[in-house]
Amino acid sequence: MASKPRHTINRRKFIRDTAVAAVALTVGSSVLGMSRKMSGQDAPEIFTGFTGFEQKPLPYSYDALETIIDATTMDIHYNKHAAAYAKNLREAALAESVDMKEPLEKLLAVISRYSVKMRNNAGGHFNHELFWQCMKPMSPEVSQGNLPKPQGLLFHAMERDFGSWENCKSKFSDAAKNRFGSGWAWLYLTSDKHLAIGSTPNQDNPLMDISEIRGVPLLGLDVWEHAYYLKYQNKRADYISNWWSLVNWDYVEQRFIQS
Ligand code: MN
Repeated sequence: MASKPRHTINRRKFIRDTAVAAVALTVGSSVLGMSRKMSGQDAPEIFTGFTGFEQKPLPYSYDALETIIDATTMDIHYNKHAAAYAKNLREAALAESVDMKEPLEKLLAVISRYSVKMRNNAGGHFNHELFWQCMKPMSPEVSQGNLPKPQGLLFHAMERDFGSWENCKSKFSDAAKNRFGSGWAWLYLTSDKHLAIGSTPNQDNPLMDISEIRGVPLLGLDVWEHAYYLKYQNKRADYISNWWSLVNWDYVEQRFIQS
């Protein structure tokens, strides 16, 4: 019998891998790589824009989201925090024999089979890749009183599932405000194709088999302090309410239609 170290759940910003327990694996299956194989049946139904294991370039410049998110925050967030998740994910994937040509979504669906390092960094990488796409620079007509709004099928699904778009927005904002400590707020699509709102701790997300909320994430908001602290300090609620000016609803609707 061979054993493999497990890691404590990382609830702070610092990556700490502390071996606390051991789980037995059979020598035979670990040598053959059989125990870890991801099967197609585990993959969520998701649109064709699968996530890879490398960072994609930011779809805008660091200062493009001013005055809602400052350029320094974007630079550090993308080049330090998110880059570290991507690097540590590839490291864990190599160590744990994950096929990096497969979509990351498949790995997330069976994340309970892997280390906590994998869980934190696979989640961290996926969540940030989604987050960058969920935002876009404000057009001149956008202001606090004139927010970008979802259109078409997504708008109608919001009316069906939340009563109104305003109600959806306020539920999402509450989920983001009420997430204690670090985590994410989500608008996601359940397996029965309904919209739902919730939040996850740390770098977890609704694609993960260990998550309390399950589905395909359509829109995500990072409420880790590193996402807003330079400009907003302790005022998470202001960051959340300003952030609605940046939402790229075309992208969110595309995910909705293709999921
Ligand atoms: Mn972040």
